[in-house]
Amino acid sequence: MIKDKVIIITGASSGIGEATAKLLASQGAKVVLGARRAENLKRIADEIQQHGGQAVYQELDVTKQSENDAIVKLAKDTFGRVDVIFLNAGLMPNSPLSALKTDDWHQMVDVNVKGVLNGVAAVLPEFIAQKSGHVIATSSVAGLKAYPGGAVYGGTKWFVRDFMEVLRMESAMEGTRIRTATIYPAAINTELLTTIKDKASLDQMQGIYDTYGISPDRIASVVAFAIDQPEDTTINEFTVGPANQP
Ligand code: NDP
Repeated sequence: MIKDKVIIITGASSGIGEATAKLLASQGAKVVLGARRAENLKRIADEIQQHGGQAVYQELDVTKQSENDAIVKLAKDTFGRVDVIFLNAGLMPNSPLSALKTDDWHQMVDVNVKGVLNGVAAVLPEFIAQKSGHVIATSSVAGLKAYPGGAVYGGTKWFVRDFMEVLRMESAMEGTRIRTATIYPAAINTELLTTIKDKASLDQMQGIYDTYGISPDRIASVVAFAIDQPEDTTINEFTVGPANQP
């Protein structure tokens, strides 16, 4: 059931996060939106409210533990509990390793890896106390298959895969009933490519997205499907992408 669930979404200011927030709110969820661009979050929350939905937002840099803790507190203070966290914030400044764009490497690790750790650290005590909860994370097909230019990005997304699987196993063993779902999107038309500064990497990706890219609404549907399952059922993994992308 989605209706009345309290759902935190990181990276909610555009793309997959925005589409998911709107879909879940339209189905009766109480959504809590986080990202750095507060003006985008305000626009999205306003739109949800204008359509009769419930949404609050707070500026969130997922690399900061205190801000992850604060958004969990916002959810609890506003709606009384947290049922789901969708760890979706991420960026993809691809480049060949030989370009030594080490700042980008570290930023990807900070956002795509540590952002996931910080979000889980913020919400896990709630889920353990409730003996229920649902952690959903956006990995990538890049976490399943290596490609030149994507060494660090793919590594961060591979981390998400492994981490989520162990979270699922441990919570099952410990009886905390935390469901997990890891999503592996292929080419989805969002703002993600704007994070690529290396021209050759951008040209390569732009060609793929121009040819195959599909709407982030498709990922939103999959997230909604995972949440909508009976509480005793977890859908652990989804690979979702354009039907014509090889
Ligand atoms: P967008 O660029 O549209 O969205 C990325 C989101 O991440 C934005 O809301 C951005 O918000 C947020 N974000 C980035 N850095 C931070 C930060 N430090 N703290 C909080 N939020 C942050 O791209 P997508 O919607 O495509 O990306 C969503 C996820 O999907 C990412 O994890 C991406 O890796 C993954 N993905 C996307 C694919 C695609 O084809 N689009 C394919 C596979 C995976 P803000 O800048 O306001 O902070």
